[in-house]
Amino acid sequence: MAVLEIVDLIKNYGQVPAVRGVSLRVEDGELLCILGPSGCGKSTSLRVVGGFEQADGGDVRLDGRSIILLPPNRRPTAMVFQKYTLWPHMRVFDNVAFGLRLRHLDKALIERKVGEALELVGLPQARRRYPNQLSGGEQQRIALARALVLEPGVLLLDEPLSNLDARLREEIKRIQRRVGITSIFVTHDQEEALSVADRIAVMDQGRLAQVDTPEAVYDRPRTLFVADFIGRMNLLPATYLHAQNALRVGTALLPGPAAAPWPDGAALTVAIRPEDLHRVTLPGPTAFSGHVDVVMDLGHYRQIGLHVPPVTTLTMIVGKDDHPASGDAMSVAPVRYLIYAGQTSPPTQAVDTLATEASPPEEVRLDARGHATEALSERPARG
Ligand code: ADP
Repeated sequence: MAVLEIVDLIKNYGQVPAVRGVSLRVEDGELLCILGPSGCGKSTSLRVVGGFEQADGGDVRLDGRSIILLPPNRRPTAMVFQKYTLWPHMRVFDNVAFGLRLRHLDKALIERKVGEALELVGLPQARRRYPNQLSGGEQQRIALARALVLEPGVLLLDEPLSNLDARLREEIKRIQRRVGITSIFVTHDQEEALSVADRIAVMDQGRLAQVDTPEAVYDRPRTLFVADFIGRMNLLPATYLHAQNALRVGTALLPGPAAAPWPDGAALTVAIRPEDLHRVTLPGPTAFSGHVDVVMDLGHYRQIGLHVPPVTTLTMIVGKDDHPASGDAMSVAPVRYLIYAGQTSPPTQAVDTLATEASPPEEVRLDARGHATEALSERPARG
């Protein structure tokens, strides 16, 4: 069993607050991704867990026991860094065996464990090679073997895939599953996080904006920051019209949720995923009409920029059999959207508003006639 808890972690670099009160629990065998833009405090959080930075406040616990005062080499954690940091003058075998030799294990046991670790990462044939005889991806696998051979309670991966191919991503996930090791994976790449993580912790300016499954982070981003950061999202300024329980978005009028919490005239933001915008032939009040601006062929589908005066350019997708051309008139209507309180540009939370204090978005789904479907517009529990 290895359950890792990060409790109210704080880390400052002089005047710079890097981590501002992060609490997280990583379950036994779980792969949790910390995701966020550059500088949001991801690596610092990980380095504190690994013991490479000292925290200014908070605690790190493994199975309920604080490990925050232990030096890195005595922690039940092992870290794989972005730069694979293999010793260039040592053969692969010796790189992987290094930590075991420090532990004074006997030779036959070291031989067996290193063999198993190299087998696990799919490079048993590389044992006699030097790091410069390996590709970047292979070096990173060896770095992973070197971490796993120590049988740590928790595996820490700091952007281990930067500039490497997507196959290694699948490989790391497969190995993590097979070993069943509790892991934290840091990345700024949302696609990477969505594809490997059991859960994603989205960080924004030293704080957690949302901790959820990849599906939940994508389908119901908790804040405007997350909505903007994860995947493509059309963010449109809107005004709430209380009498009609509707949102004025440019020339369109979108139904409000069943129990709308805003006063008349409230400034809101409507968030629509490109795949939730559908073409309509008879534009009703929920439609946006405009002209095709750019068409991008993305293999199995096309991404379209639709210029909709006066609001914006909407991003939407159509199937590969649909061939709109630049300049074509087109009307689209949403089938689902989220509504956030407030309008900010760029859309981020005010720096000192705790993400957990922000109201979650309201969700509306529309039927084919553009009417809100009651059953699905229920509000999420307020947390
Ligand atoms: P991320 O991993 O999300 O890119 P970091 O954790 O590396 O972010 O950095 C968080 C903040 O702390 C940034 O503002 C960064 O400039 C600052 N920072 C990171 N490391 C140091 C350091 N050793 N000294 C001073 N400031 C640092």
